[in-house]
Amino acid sequence: QVVTRFAPSPTGFLHIGGARTALFNWLFARGRGGKFLLRIEDTDRERSTPEATAAILQGMKWLGLDHDGDVISQFEGAARHAEVAHQLLAEGKAYKCFSTQEEIAAFREQARAEGKSTLFRSPWRDADPASHTDEPFVVRIKAPQDGATVIRDQVQGDVTIRNDQLDDMILLRSDGTPVYMLAVVVDDHDMGVTHVIRGDDHLNNAARQMMIYEAMGWDVPVWAHIPLIHGPDGKKLSKRHGALGAQEYQAMGYPAAGMRNYLARLGWSHGDDEFFTDDQAKEWFDLDGIGKSPARFDLKKLENLCGQHIAVSDDAALRREIEAYLAAAGLPTLSQTQSSDLERAMYCLKDRARTFPELLEKAHFALISRPIEPDEKAAKALQNVSDGILRELTPHVQNASWLRNELEEALNAFAEAKDIKFGKLAGPLRAALAGRAVTPSVFDMMLVLGREETLARLSDAAK
Ligand code: GLU
Repeated sequence: QVVTRFAPSPTGFLHIGGARTALFNWLFARGRGGKFLLRIEDTDRERSTPEATAAILQGMKWLGLDHDGDVISQFEGAARHAEVAHQLLAEGKAYKCFSTQEEIAAFREQARAEGKSTLFRSPWRDADPASHTDEPFVVRIKAPQDGATVIRDQVQGDVTIRNDQLDDMILLRSDGTPVYMLAVVVDDHDMGVTHVIRGDDHLNNAARQMMIYEAMGWDVPVWAHIPLIHGPDGKKLSKRHGALGAQEYQAMGYPAAGMRNYLARLGWSHGDDEFFTDDQAKEWFDLDGIGKSPARFDLKKLENLCGQHIAVSDDAALRREIEAYLAAAGLPTLSQTQSSDLERAMYCLKDRARTFPELLEKAHFALISRPIEPDEKAAKALQNVSDGILRELTPHVQNASWLRNELEEALNAFAEAKDIKFGKLAGPLRAALAGRAVTPSVFDMMLVLGREETLARLSDAAK
């Protein structure tokens, strides 16, 4: 069974790159009937905060990246991590190193002077520690000194690191606490992780981590180190490229489905497919489709995909997501009436809205109540109706049956009889019904508002 994991360090919000890593792991597991686990790498006590953990969980929740089992705290596993180091010590695969900071510095100094590698070679690797038992020590792994370590990476290919470039990594510090590198390996092993999909900033760690797997005789997971995300200019994604927090995109009104689709495409591809559903993504996602070079973040593409997802979303689900967006953005929430009006109007709002603010702008007519306050352009359109066109129109609207084609017929016939273009009529109508110059079609607005409200707004505007 496939087991993947997302292992964020809780030092801030859920970064867009982290969200993509989580998504890749989620897709890979979900498409294979596997498990997707969440481990919070909180061993750095100074930089880890509960707020950051909460923010990461919230971001994942927004994106719908549900994980299996409990959230695992890496820090809480410290005793188990240390136990593994002690096992390696007992088996002679690790050793106590009593070298002091000064001794290490002196070693490096001399190596530099002699033009040799400054990698520390501890004299304790093959020494008898019995005489030193009272002094502080670290536990180091006995790293292989010749040959090479090959990381068989599904994205990067085979990456070979000469073993003489690796030192005897510390496993336990002098206070007995395990180092991060050990914790990651022990956790991944104990959690049964089969595939490690993560940023390629961890590629070098993989070589060191493999030493621990091998010393313990554990199966090495499948590695997939994915290139980091770049900005549109090809430089590493940073603040000046725009929002970095996944949830900032929620607060800007991007639908989660569009965001998932976009993030899935960011560094992974499936032929020419740009737009796809979650089910398709789960079915299609594989490690072969991950690109070797960094993907560039492209807001236009994100917006396009979001628009397509909004267009095909279920009305009620969309309404719920918009309400969550309003809350996340700190905007006024909808009343009961507004909420059901919004859902009723949804069919004519979701085409060509790429974000929720765009959709809500179109929904304006359905969310306001009388008296309608026209904006500047609408006020101008209404000034030109002094010829009483809205008043004249009223009986036609009154008598029309409230069906789209009948309304169309009635209004068109009216325009024809008056010998004006339909656009001449639509302007004041938009202004009267919505207080705006740009709105959904007048027929849709009339249908959503109903006869009574439509007539009331017409009569207000005709005064
Ligand atoms: N905690 C690491 C990070 O946030 C991830 C380590 C891993 O995936 O192995 O970058």
